[in-house]
Amino acid sequence: MSHLRRDELEILFRQAGLELSDSAHERLVQFLELVIHTNEQLNLTAITSLEEGYVKHLYDSLAIIGLPEFARADTLIDIGSGAGFPSIPLAICFPGKRFTSLDSTQKKINFQAQAAELLGLQNFTTCWGRAEELAHSPAYRESFDLATARAVAQVNILLELALPFVKTGSAAVFYKGKDYLSELESLQKPLAVLHAGLDRAISYHLPDNLGERAFVVFQKQQPTASAYPRKPGVPQKKPL
Ligand code: SAM
Repeated sequence: MSHLRRDELEILFRQAGLELSDSAHERLVQFLELVIHTNEQLNLTAITSLEEGYVKHLYDSLAIIGLPEFARADTLIDIGSGAGFPSIPLAICFPGKRFTSLDSTQKKINFQAQAAELLGLQNFTTCWGRAEELAHSPAYRESFDLATARAVAQVNILLELALPFVKTGSAAVFYKGKDYLSELESLQKPLAVLHAGLDRAISYHLPDNLGERAFVVFQKQQPTASAYPRKPGVPQKKPL
């Protein structure tokens, strides 16, 4: 595994004032191998090589660790987590935080549950269903210190899916590609309706010139009205 960019990952941890332990690193690679291997049967991700997955899945998932919103959060929900990104790498490295990983595709959630068991993750729970429905469940509504979503939908749609899950005063952080700026142009209405504010956007580079990415950070200012999120499919068909 020496060709994988552990040095870059270590720098990321050091910049956040943290250290990446050998055992966490071993389990990160074990998880990635499991994703790549299982992909042959389940079609979990478009990435098929360990080298690319190391940067585009592991490094990218963990790039959030330096954000104060992440550092402060004890309970996190990852919406549309697919094969478990970013939630499983984060859960491996931060055993003191509790992660809930939500996806509407059953085979992906089953994969995540099996992977978590294999890795012995005690701080990780899976949840199968649509964000539009689960956000109305009292067990999940306004319950989390942070919501994340990577590669799930446009920002205006994500706001409606994610903000109902977080407590007032807490944040939602979306992982975006380099062309995210146009998605921030039409947020006036969703932000007003959902009582939230755009805090900031932070660009970063993946190692090995594998691309530019950004975090877009929103703060929830008041509780979400009970009408939101709307019924499954409506936030996507008729974005606020
Ligand atoms: N976050 C993962 C990643 O970055 O690799 C997966 C991204 S994948 C492109 C998007 C995932 O979001 C899919 O697994 C899909 O099932 C899930 N998804 C999309 N809309 C959803 C919704 N409304 N509720 C729950 N899951 C959703």
